[in-house]
Amino acid sequence: MENTWDVNLVITDNDMPLMNGLELTQHLRLNKTRDELAIIGLSASNNPDLIPQFLKAGANDYLNKPFNQEELYCRIHTVLDMQDASEQLYFLANRDDLTGLWNRRYFFNFADENPAPFKSIAMIDVDHFKMINEKFGHDGGDYALKSIGQMLNTAFSSALPARFGGEEFVVLCTGNVDVFNAELEAFRGQLENTMMSYQGQTIRLTTSIGVASGEQSLPHLLKTADDKLYAAKDNGRNNIVY
Ligand code: GH3
Ligand code: MG
Ligand code: MG
Repeated sequence: MENTWDVNLVITDNDMPLMNGLELTQHLRLNKTRDELAIIGLSASNNPDLIPQFLKAGANDYLNKPFNQEELYCRIHTVLDMQDASEQLYFLANRDDLTGLWNRRYFFNFADENPAPFKSIAMIDVDHFKMINEKFGHDGGDYALKSIGQMLNTAFSSALPARFGGEEFVVLCTGNVDVFNAELEAFRGQLENTMMSYQGQTIRLTTSIGVASGEQSLPHLLKTADDKLYAAKDNGRNNIVY
């Protein structure tokens, strides 16, 4: 079954030829969670075991036929409302409020769930950010962080950027390391040349970046990238140490 469907609710009768509703539910659950795809089972059977069977197979809800139309609409609303609520919760738990980037928690979960023998990590820290806050106020600093977030979102063809905390960002790449390094350099150069308009003033920023690539564990690569970030700061900032 395609995993790219744009369907979020299936209502299935149990009594169907070739594959019954229970089998269909089990099959759909191989690829889609209850939050991604809601399933409501239906049946005219008076077998009392069918309700627990449907729920165990992964149905969100079950209705006996014949049913009142109003009841069906209520059940549909309830499962779709629950889907919306869990999508919002997921967003709140995994996205950074300010920049809209993935947050630190998502970054570690993603790395856990997508293990790759060879990976690259870039640690990115804004240079002299305390001065930006002093000059433009905390809101000006926030505005600059949002702009950096937008740039990071479009900077990489095959890497995951996230806000690591404060004015520090991390990027995980499991693709081609030369492409990644070139994209990091393009990002650094683009930011250096960006003039952010904020309340009639212009904010200009640079970043220092440390990059570690290899087959070592994620914590090891993070530590190496962090050490290289400090070396980039020592080199005078606005540069990348590989
Ligand atoms: P360096 O070049 O050595 O990195 O200098 P720096 O001034 O950036 O140094 P440091 O990392 O010590 O300072 C980071 C500052 O970022 C301190 C903190 O007040 C500010 N900051 C952290 N998170 C936020 C945020 O969400 N919004 C704003 N406006 N400022 C933040
Ligand atoms: Mg910092
Ligand atoms: Mg800094």
